[in-house]
Amino acid sequence: MSAPVSEEQERSTTTEMPSVSLKVDPARARTLLENISQINGRIEQTCKAQAISKPIRLVAVSKLKPATDILALHENPRHLHFGENYLQELVQKSRLLPKTIRWHFIGGLQSNKCQQLARDVPNLWAVESVDSEKKLKLLNQGRGQRDISAEGDLSAEEKLRVFVQVNTSGEVSKSGVEPMSDELKSLCVYARDKCENLHLQGLMTIGAIARSKATTAETENEDFRSLRENRKWVADELAIGESELELSMGMSEDFEGAIAQGSDEVRVGSTIFGERPPKSEAKILEDTEEGKS
Ligand SMILES: *Cc1c(COP(=O)(O)O)cnc(C)c1O
Repeated sequence: MSAPVSEEQERSTTTEMPSVSLKVDPARARTLLENISQINGRIEQTCKAQAISKPIRLVAVSKLKPATDILALHENPRHLHFGENYLQELVQKSRLLPKTIRWHFIGGLQSNKCQQLARDVPNLWAVESVDSEKKLKLLNQGRGQRDISAEGDLSAEEKLRVFVQVNTSGEVSKSGVEPMSDELKSLCVYARDKCENLHLQGLMTIGAIARSKATTAETENEDFRSLRENRKWVADELAIGESELELSMGMSEDFEGAIAQGSDEVRVGSTIFGERPPKSEAKILEDTEEGKS
């Protein structure tokens, strides 16, 4: 069902301005711009070398980085997709930054935070770290409760995309469901059939660091191969085409190899934004902006 026209019109005239004005440092903006265009260039080169013609989505992972870094990339090259790992940080950033940003939640996800995440970040585009039915249920509920009254660009019917995280490396420290397990299948079926506000977008893996460090565009990474095999398995089990499920895999160290092995989306942080500060020292607003209006 589509929303009545009068409601749409009302919505588009309401503009929510951030209460703090964010000042982007031009030198910092230039650095970030240069970094992201280098990544885009490397993605393009890899696609060319591998004869890949589909578009690859670049999620700029901005966790623990200030809101102005995100604004710099969203304002000028109009980069859209940003990834965050921590709920409170994402909620705060989403309030400060334009609603045209497409947020990805990629971090470890606690069940008791799911509803708030989906409800309080109206322009949340995807949650990539889903590994239980309970989380799907709560994300679905939260998405239904979000306030879209001030949004001009998201339709009320837009579903929240979810990726099921697969623990392809089997490390105890990693979340995600077991590869080719009943659980993986039942989560995918549940997301597809029981969650009217969610869309099953695909599968995600992080993978082992050692394998990631050894990955080049020419070598094969076992985690990436596993995720691809899992997609085939899920598609067969659900009787859908493989092309209906995306693969989210590849980070700063290994995104070229991930693309060569079939990734649809890479999540790159430190190569764009530089090393991250410890969580205790991370700031959403830089000192100079505090108290300014
Ligand atoms: C932090 C993070 C990334 C980005 O890692 P970099 O090595 O900085 O590119 C990607 N994916 C997930 C799930 C992350 O937590």
